[in-house]
This record gives sequence, C-alpha cells and structure tokens, in this order.
Amino acid sequence: MSWHILGAGSLGGLWGARLFRAGIPVRLIFRDRVRLAQYRQVGGLRLREGDDTSLYPLAAETAQDAVPIRRLLLACKAYDAEEAIASIAPRLASGADVILLQNGMGSQDAVSARIPRARTILASSTEGAFRDDTFSVVHAGQGHTWLGDPTHPGEPPAWLNELSEAGIPAQWTDDILGQLWRKLAINCAINPLTVLYDCRNGELNAHTAEIQSVCEELCELLRHTGQTEKASGLYEAVLAIIDATAANTSSMLQDVRSGRRTEIRFLLGHALEEAHRHSLKLARLESLHIRLSEQLATRGLPID
Ligand code: NAP
Repeated sequence: MSWHILGAGSLGGLWGARLFRAGIPVRLIFRDRVRLAQYRQVGGLRLREGDDTSLYPLAAETAQDAVPIRRLLLACKAYDAEEAIASIAPRLASGADVILLQNGMGSQDAVSARIPRARTILASSTEGAFRDDTFSVVHAGQGHTWLGDPTHPGEPPAWLNELSEAGIPAQWTDDILGQLWRKLAINCAINPLTVLYDCRNGELNAHTAEIQSVCEELCELLRHTGQTEKASGLYEAVLAIIDATAANTSSMLQDVRSGRRTEIRFLLGHALEEAHRHSLKLARLESLHIRLSEQLATRGLPID
C-alpha cells in the first residue's frame, strides 16, 4: 500500500525521502500542475543530512489525480490543513488512515470533521527540518514523533513498523492529547516571548519571572482541560528546554524574521479559546496574545 504525502515541505519531505530510500511506496501530492511541473523539472526531492546531500526521485501527482488514497500524511501548516484536506477528501478510501503532523491544537478537529469516514491519527514531533529551496530539505535536528488516536488509543496501526524500517523515530502513545497539550503549553511559554524580545531561546533566562507567571496560568488551563498530570513541573521543564536549546531560534521567531505567517492561532489562540470555553480568565496569556498580535501586525503579518 502506498503512502501519500500532502504538504511536501520540510517535514513532509523529510518523511517522504526516508520512506522512499527504504523502498516503501510513497507519492507526493502537489497543490496544482504548476507545482508538479516545477518538481519534475528539478528531478526529485533533495535531502541534506549533515554533509551529505541526496536527490530522491519520489513519484508525484496533483490533488486532482483520481487514484484512491488509503494512507495519507498531512504535513502542511496548521492554517492550511483544512483547505488542503478538502482538496483530496473525495479521494480518501473508506477507513483510510490520515496522519496529522500539525503543530499546536485546533486544526486536527477541523480536519477530522471534514473526513468522517477516515481514521485520523494525531502526531506530535520534535524533529527539526527546514527548506533551503522549494524542493530541498535540510534535516536540522534529530527528534522523535509520537502518534496516537484519542478515539481508539489501544489500536496502533500495522504500518508503524514501516516507520522504523525507514529510520523515522516514532512510537505509539495512548495519550496523544496529553502529549499535544504539554507541547502546546511549552510552546506558549517560549515562542511568543522570543518574538517579543527578538531573541534566541537562551536569552529568555533574563525573563524568568514573566515565564513563571505565564506557566502558572498555563498550568491552571491544563488542570481545567483535564490534563492535570501535564501541568506537573511545567515551569521547570520550560527552563530546562530553554537551557538545552539556548542557541536556537524558535520556529515562531524564524517565521517572523522570514516574513512568514505564524501558527499563533493554534498555539496561544487555542489556549485562550479553551480558557474561554472553561470560563477561565488568564490575564497574562491574554496580554501576551495582544502584544504578540501587535508585533505581528507591525511587521505586516497575519495576526491569526
Ligand atoms: P512547510 O515547510 O511550510 O511545508 C508545508 C508544505 O505544505 C509546503 O510544501 C506547502 O506547499 C504545502 N501545502 C500547503 N497547502 C497545501 C495544499 N492545499 N495542497 C498541497 N500542498 C500544500 O512546513 P513544515 O515546517 O514542514 O511544517 C508542517 C507542520 O509541521 C507545521 O504545523 C509545523 O509546525 C509542524 N512541525 C514542523 C517541524 C519542522 O522542523 N519543520 C517540526 C515539528 C513540527 P507550497 O510550498 O506549495 O506552499
């Protein structure tokens, strides 16, 4: 059975190249014929790992192709996910597996609602990749991907072994929602502040009082959403990540510096929507959201 990848960017390309070189059938899906023609012209997907660069001629098609899809990796940004899935929804076979690689929360529910006959599997990844050209991916940081299905947590799919064959570090978890919530909380405590102070992660050590108060509100939110366990030691975990990634530029700051839209709506925006749903007033997080939105608007970037 072939894998299909919709969103052949950094992470989608990284998965695609590793599946392909392990001899596992995989096809990229481009948004239109123009993108497909550009891809064919360069002859495949380029992947740089350390000093090695290889070209992988993965098969490719457009969303308009007619072949049914049984296993799909959706690897576009969270704000593109709903439109992207709608473009191939009629091609999904009944019971197809759709893996959602989007960061943050909120987009997954919107996508699942559009494909009720498919099984959606949520993913949370710490891998690091970026594109140095349209069809050229740099594997910048080794990481791990957790996969899970909140509606059938004890039923890992048989294809998990294909990921290990392909050298994609991944494992099934019975608590993918907890995993996503914890990552969202950590992202909310770090990423917006790196944009506001225009600094690398390590420089946030000069703002620990602010981080602590943000973490207190995030813990309150986690407890109200039933993720009490994920609130445990949040502030300490955030400080440890800041130290471990001191030299890094957060993904949100990278987006802002490159003039790209951020995923704020699926991080801070989602946290505040959930707080509202639970009638929680989180003044620090609200203020952070307002300051970040103002900063984005000043730079001419979307505030959602
Ligand atoms: P990316 O490099 O921007 O790639 C996204 C891809 O989606 C692009 O190739 C884009 O195509 C494609 N796309 C968007 N809408 C489409 C549509 N309607 N039809 C077909 N293709 C479409 O993004 P990314 O960095 O891989 O991130 C993907 C998700 O993974 C994000 O939620 C991100 O937060 C998460 N994530 C990323 C990393 C990482 O290191 N990159 C790590 C962890 C999590 P065009 O080029 O044609 O626009």
